[in-house]
Amino acid sequence: MELEPFIQLNHNGLIHRRDAFGGKPQRYKELAVDFKGHVGELLTKSLNAGALDSSVSKEDKEKLLVAMREWGVLDGDLKFSSNIPVSNQRGYDQAPGGGVGGAPTPSKINSLSDVLSSHVWTQIGFYYNYVMQTTMFQPKDGMGRIGDGFRRQVNDLIRFNTRVSAILQDGKGVTAEWEDLKTGQKGVSKADYMVCTIPTPVLSQIPMQVGPKMQAAVKALQMNGQLKLGLEMKTRFWEEKYSIYGGHSFTDQAISQLSYPNNNFFGDGPAVLLGAFASGIGALQLTGMTPEARIEAALTQGSVFHPEEYRANYLSGASVAWSRQPWIMGCTSAWTEQTRAEHYQNLVAMDGRIVLAGEHATYYGGWMEGSLLSAIDAIERLHKKASAA
Ligand SMILES: Cc1cc2nc3c(=O)[nH]c(=O)nc-3n(C[C@H](O)[C@H](O)[C@H](O)COP(=O)(O)OP(=O)(O)OC[C@H]3O[C@@H](n4cnc5c(N)ncnc54)[C@H](O)[C@@H]3O)c2cc1C
Repeated sequence: MELEPFIQLNHNGLIHRRDAFGGKPQRYKELAVDFKGHVGELLTKSLNAGALDSSVSKEDKEKLLVAMREWGVLDGDLKFSSNIPVSNQRGYDQAPGGGVGGAPTPSKINSLSDVLSSHVWTQIGFYYNYVMQTTMFQPKDGMGRIGDGFRRQVNDLIRFNTRVSAILQDGKGVTAEWEDLKTGQKGVSKADYMVCTIPTPVLSQIPMQVGPKMQAAVKALQMNGQLKLGLEMKTRFWEEKYSIYGGHSFTDQAISQLSYPNNNFFGDGPAVLLGAFASGIGALQLTGMTPEARIEAALTQGSVFHPEEYRANYLSGASVAWSRQPWIMGCTSAWTEQTRAEHYQNLVAMDGRIVLAGEHATYYGGWMEGSLLSAIDAIERLHKKASAA
């Protein structure tokens, strides 16, 4: 399977909040650089005023002052100001060029107050996340290629379009009752042991012969219901006009973000944008709409980033509300500190001959890697138990 980069951080991505900058999106790099510059200046002031003398040793204070000056790109007066070194990070009014008119001109920094109104620290934190760090990969031609890979290896072992309706066990083995959703045929499958990977919102509705602790854990684990929406656009205007190649733009509207394609850069013809990756209240709002209304909302909201091109380039769109998909009824497991403490070990422990695995049975939720790590752990424990029996 061929892999290609799955770009997260793009300094050219845009940040939008309805109550910041008059609703006009700003480049991530401008806000992020201005944020650290202002923080650097303020920390320098505090240090020089002796406000942190009880928290920082004299030696560390000297180092920190140097760090803040360099990291914050402060000027000779230890101020964060509009100049060429700062523009070298946040971008220029006129970028360095060639020949006679090649001299750059600096851009104007934003005030601390304006930068704070953008909440850019949210995105800075997002990109610091362990799972968002470079370099991440995605399968060429889509995530479906991963399923295809499994299918090539174990096709004969899979029974497609089959819904398990009950799970039973006794001292000798396990039984899954099922129904073929295409033919209506009902049947049972028997085995010595079972690794069950049915997501918990579905599993909680299936009669399952396990003890009260696992039952309670399965019932307690809710899922977040995100919504994703794809928009097919005639051209790659975000590349041509905005110099955005992969990564995201963020907004405080229901759609939450746009993600730009990571493949076929500079390509002619249509390309698909992720026009919404909504969660929380935004996901509920969009999920409650008809598919057509979701597209309309996504076009209106996404137009704040690319007002002239967005609607003009729109060809078609599709959305998936994960809480409405009957085979998962959610997107990612919503563990809290409390449910982890109370239920996690009971969820992952073997119950007789049954062990659960999947995205819900890991500390690495919301990612395929987590479900695979959970499956490996479950199989190893099952193998040990079966070998000892
Ligand atoms: C919108 C979205 C975006 C994501 N983005 C990424 C990403 O970029 N990178 C990444 O690594 N991960 C991503 N993930 C997470 C990743 O998809 C999951 O972590 C992973 O698929 C979980 O694997 P699983 O085997 O636990 O569950 P699933 O893949 O959900 O498999 C569970 C299976 O159980 C089947 N099933 C359900 N009920 C029954 C029943 N009654 N009988 C029989 N079978 C049943 C379902 O049909 C399904 O095939 C994303 C997930 C979502 C929803």
